[in-house]
Amino acid sequence: MSAESGPEPPEDLYQRLDHILFDKVEVLRRIAEMGREIEADYKGKPLTMVTILQGGMLFMADLIREVHLPMKIDSLSVSSYGSGTTSSGTVTFHQDRMPHLDGRHILILDDILDSGRTLRAIMDRFAKEGNPLSMKVAVLLSKKVERAADVTADYYGFEVGNEFVVGYGLDYDGEYRNLPVIGVLKPEFIH
Ligand code: 5GP
Ligand code: MG
Repeated sequence: MSAESGPEPPEDLYQRLDHILFDKVEVLRRIAEMGREIEADYKGKPLTMVTILQGGMLFMADLIREVHLPMKIDSLSVSSYGSGTTSSGTVTFHQDRMPHLDGRHILILDDILDSGRTLRAIMDRFAKEGNPLSMKVAVLLSKKVERAADVTADYYGFEVGNEFVVGYGLDYDGEYRNLPVIGVLKPEFIH
Protein backbone atom coordinates (compact mmCIF):
# COMPACT_ATOMS: atom_id res chain seq x y z
CA MET A 1 0.00 0.00 0.00
CA SER A 2 1.35 3.44 -0.87
CA ALA A 3 0.14 6.92 -0.03
CA GLU A 4 -0.40 7.84 -3.70
CA SER A 5 -2.30 4.76 -4.84
CA GLY A 6 -4.54 4.44 -1.77
CA PRO A 7 -5.54 1.14 -0.19
CA GLU A 8 -5.29 -2.09 -2.18
CA PRO A 9 -8.68 -3.37 -3.37
CA PRO A 10 -9.88 -6.26 -1.19
CA GLU A 11 -9.05 -9.72 -2.53
CA ASP A 12 -12.56 -10.93 -1.70
CA LEU A 13 -14.70 -9.89 -4.65
CA TYR A 14 -17.85 -9.83 -2.50
CA GLN A 15 -16.38 -6.95 -0.52
CA ARG A 16 -16.27 -4.89 -3.70
CA LEU A 17 -20.02 -5.17 -4.17
CA ASP A 18 -22.36 -2.46 -2.99
CA HIS A 19 -25.24 -4.92 -3.05
CA ILE A 20 -26.29 -8.27 -4.48
CA LEU A 21 -29.26 -8.36 -6.87
CA PHE A 22 -29.52 -12.13 -7.41
CA ASP A 23 -27.69 -14.78 -5.45
CA LYS A 24 -26.43 -18.10 -6.76
CA VAL A 25 -29.49 -20.08 -5.68
CA GLU A 26 -31.92 -17.64 -7.31
CA VAL A 27 -29.93 -17.62 -10.55
CA LEU A 28 -29.77 -21.40 -10.80
CA ARG A 29 -33.44 -21.79 -9.92
CA ARG A 30 -34.45 -19.30 -12.61
CA ILE A 31 -32.20 -20.94 -15.21
CA ALA A 32 -33.84 -24.28 -14.43
CA GLU A 33 -37.24 -22.70 -15.14
CA MET A 34 -35.97 -21.27 -18.41
CA GLY A 35 -34.69 -24.73 -19.27
CA ARG A 36 -38.18 -26.22 -18.88
CA GLU A 37 -39.65 -23.57 -21.17
CA ILE A 38 -36.97 -23.96 -23.84
CA GLU A 39 -37.26 -27.74 -23.67
CA ALA A 40 -40.99 -27.56 -24.38
CA ASP A 41 -40.49 -25.14 -27.29
CA TYR A 42 -37.69 -27.05 -29.03
CA LYS A 43 -38.77 -30.65 -28.53
CA GLY A 44 -38.18 -32.60 -31.75
CA LYS A 45 -36.36 -29.69 -33.44
CA PRO A 46 -32.69 -29.54 -34.50
CA LEU A 47 -31.41 -27.01 -31.95
CA THR A 48 -28.10 -25.20 -31.78
CA MET A 49 -27.39 -22.85 -28.90
CA VAL A 50 -24.77 -20.22 -29.72
CA THR A 51 -23.35 -18.28 -26.81
CA ILE A 52 -21.65 -14.93 -26.97
CA LEU A 53 -18.20 -14.98 -25.39
CA GLN A 54 -17.06 -14.16 -22.82
CA GLY A 55 -20.12 -13.02 -20.91
CA GLY A 56 -22.52 -15.75 -22.01
CA MET A 57 -20.39 -18.73 -21.12
CA LEU A 58 -21.54 -19.26 -17.56
CA PHE A 59 -25.17 -18.88 -18.59
CA MET A 60 -24.73 -21.43 -21.36
CA ALA A 61 -22.95 -23.91 -19.11
CA ASP A 62 -25.83 -23.89 -16.64
CA LEU A 63 -28.69 -23.59 -19.15
CA ILE A 64 -27.70 -26.49 -21.42
CA ARG A 65 -27.70 -28.81 -18.43
CA GLU A 66 -31.32 -27.85 -17.80
CA VAL A 67 -32.47 -28.57 -21.36
CA HIS A 68 -32.75 -32.31 -21.71
CA LEU A 69 -32.91 -32.50 -25.50
CA PRO A 70 -30.41 -33.40 -28.23
CA MET A 71 -28.64 -30.18 -29.20
CA LYS A 72 -25.41 -28.73 -30.50
CA ILE A 73 -23.54 -25.84 -28.95
CA ASP A 74 -21.30 -23.21 -30.45
CA SER A 75 -19.89 -19.82 -29.51
CA LEU A 76 -19.08 -16.48 -31.03
CA SER A 77 -16.52 -13.98 -29.85
CA VAL A 78 -17.53 -10.34 -30.18
CA SER A 79 -16.88 -7.18 -28.25
CA SER A 80 -19.22 -4.28 -27.86
CA TYR A 81 -18.35 -2.61 -24.60
CA GLY A 82 -14.63 -1.88 -24.47
CA SER A 83 -13.51 -1.53 -20.87
CA GLY A 84 -15.95 1.07 -19.56
CA THR A 85 -19.50 0.83 -18.34
CA THR A 86 -21.22 2.37 -21.34
CA SER A 87 -21.81 0.84 -24.75
CA SER A 88 -19.39 1.72 -27.53
CA GLY A 89 -22.12 1.25 -30.11
CA THR A 90 -19.91 -0.71 -32.46
CA VAL A 91 -19.69 -4.48 -32.51
CA THR A 92 -16.45 -6.19 -33.48
CA PHE A 93 -16.43 -9.85 -34.56
CA HIS A 94 -13.24 -11.59 -33.49
CA GLN A 95 -13.55 -14.63 -35.72
CA ASP A 96 -14.15 -15.48 -39.34
CA ARG A 97 -15.70 -18.87 -38.76
CA MET A 98 -19.44 -18.56 -38.21
CA PRO A 99 -21.44 -21.27 -36.47
CA HIS A 100 -23.14 -23.81 -38.75
CA LEU A 101 -26.61 -22.33 -39.18
CA ASP A 102 -28.30 -24.10 -42.13
CA GLY A 103 -31.17 -26.37 -41.19
CA ARG A 104 -30.85 -25.57 -37.49
CA HIS A 105 -33.01 -23.69 -35.02
CA ILE A 106 -30.58 -21.17 -33.52
CA LEU A 107 -30.94 -19.94 -29.96
CA ILE A 108 -28.46 -17.13 -29.27
CA LEU A 109 -27.42 -16.76 -25.63
CA ASP A 110 -25.95 -13.72 -23.96
CA ASP A 111 -25.45 -12.46 -20.44
CA ILE A 112 -27.49 -9.27 -20.80
CA LEU A 113 -29.64 -7.42 -23.32
CA ASP A 114 -29.00 -3.68 -23.02
CA SER A 115 -29.14 -1.44 -26.09
CA GLY A 116 -29.65 -4.50 -28.28
CA ARG A 117 -26.88 -3.48 -30.68
CA THR A 118 -24.76 -6.55 -30.06
CA LEU A 119 -27.53 -9.08 -30.63
CA ARG A 120 -28.89 -7.15 -33.60
CA ALA A 121 -25.48 -7.19 -35.29
CA ILE A 122 -25.14 -10.92 -34.64
CA MET A 123 -28.62 -11.75 -35.90
CA ASP A 124 -28.11 -9.66 -39.04
CA ARG A 125 -24.84 -11.41 -39.71
CA PHE A 126 -26.35 -14.85 -39.15
CA ALA A 127 -29.25 -14.05 -41.48
CA LYS A 128 -26.79 -12.96 -44.17
CA GLU A 129 -24.42 -15.88 -43.83
CA GLY A 130 -26.73 -18.84 -43.43
CA ASN A 131 -30.23 -20.23 -43.54
CA PRO A 132 -31.28 -21.05 -40.00
CA LEU A 133 -34.77 -22.51 -39.57
CA SER A 134 -35.35 -19.93 -36.83
CA MET A 135 -33.41 -17.50 -34.65
CA LYS A 136 -34.33 -16.61 -31.10
CA VAL A 137 -32.61 -14.93 -28.17
CA ALA A 138 -32.19 -16.03 -24.55
CA VAL A 139 -30.46 -13.75 -22.06
CA LEU A 140 -29.93 -14.06 -18.35
CA LEU A 141 -30.70 -10.39 -17.78
CA SER A 142 -32.85 -7.89 -19.62
CA LYS A 143 -32.14 -4.25 -18.87
CA LYS A 144 -35.21 -2.07 -18.56
CA VAL A 145 -34.07 0.60 -21.02
CA GLU A 146 -35.18 1.84 -24.39
CA ARG A 147 -33.44 -0.36 -26.98
CA ALA A 148 -31.30 1.40 -29.58
CA ALA A 149 -31.69 -1.63 -31.86
CA ASP A 150 -34.71 -3.80 -32.59
CA VAL A 151 -34.21 -6.93 -30.45
CA THR A 152 -36.57 -8.75 -28.13
CA ALA A 153 -35.49 -11.33 -25.60
CA ASP A 154 -37.59 -14.41 -26.36
CA TYR A 155 -36.44 -15.79 -23.00
CA TYR A 156 -34.89 -13.87 -20.12
CA GLY A 157 -34.04 -14.69 -16.56
CA PHE A 158 -34.50 -11.40 -14.71
CA GLU A 159 -35.10 -7.76 -15.45
CA VAL A 160 -32.63 -5.21 -14.10
CA GLY A 161 -32.77 -1.43 -13.97
CA ASN A 162 -30.50 0.91 -15.85
CA GLU A 163 -27.39 0.28 -13.77
CA PHE A 164 -24.10 -1.51 -14.39
CA VAL A 165 -24.08 -5.03 -13.01
CA VAL A 166 -21.31 -7.61 -12.64
CA GLY A 167 -20.93 -11.28 -11.82
CA TYR A 168 -22.11 -14.56 -13.26
CA GLY A 169 -20.28 -13.89 -16.54
CA LEU A 170 -20.69 -10.12 -16.54
CA ASP A 171 -17.41 -8.21 -16.26
CA TYR A 172 -16.06 -4.85 -15.36
CA ASP A 173 -12.80 -4.32 -17.21
CA GLY A 174 -12.44 -8.07 -17.66
CA GLU A 175 -12.90 -8.97 -14.00
CA TYR A 176 -15.77 -10.21 -11.81
CA ARG A 177 -17.04 -12.80 -14.30
CA ASN A 178 -16.35 -15.55 -11.79
CA LEU A 179 -18.54 -14.04 -9.06
CA PRO A 180 -21.32 -16.60 -8.51
CA VAL A 181 -23.84 -13.82 -7.83
CA ILE A 182 -25.06 -10.78 -9.76
CA GLY A 183 -24.51 -7.42 -8.09
CA VAL A 184 -23.59 -3.77 -8.33
CA LEU A 185 -20.05 -2.56 -7.64
CA LYS A 186 -19.23 0.02 -5.01
CA PRO A 187 -18.46 3.26 -6.85
CA GLU A 188 -14.84 3.27 -5.61
CA PHE A 189 -14.13 0.16 -7.70
CA ILE A 190 -15.21 1.83 -10.94
CA HIS A 191 -12.42 3.90 -12.42
P1 5GP B 1 -25.94 -4.09 -25.92
O1 5GP B 1 -25.30 -4.27 -27.25
O2 5GP B 1 -27.26 -4.79 -25.77
O3 5GP B 1 -25.99 -2.65 -25.49
O4 5GP B 1 -24.95 -4.68 -24.86
C1 5GP B 1 -24.74 -6.01 -24.72
C2 5GP B 1 -23.39 -6.26 -24.11
O5 5GP B 1 -22.94 -5.16 -23.32
C3 5GP B 1 -23.52 -7.43 -23.16
O6 5GP B 1 -23.19 -8.61 -23.83
C4 5GP B 1 -22.51 -7.09 -22.10
O7 5GP B 1 -21.26 -7.59 -22.46
C5 5GP B 1 -22.44 -5.59 -22.08
N1 5GP B 1 -23.26 -4.98 -21.01
C6 5GP B 1 -24.42 -4.30 -21.12
N2 5GP B 1 -24.89 -3.92 -19.93
C7 5GP B 1 -24.01 -4.38 -19.01
C8 5GP B 1 -23.94 -4.33 -17.58
O8 5GP B 1 -24.79 -3.78 -16.85
N3 5GP B 1 -22.87 -4.92 -17.01
C9 5GP B 1 -21.89 -5.54 -17.72
N4 5GP B 1 -20.89 -6.08 -17.06
N5 5GP B 1 -21.92 -5.63 -19.08
C10 5GP B 1 -22.97 -5.05 -19.69
MG1 MG C 1 -19.30 -7.89 -21.96
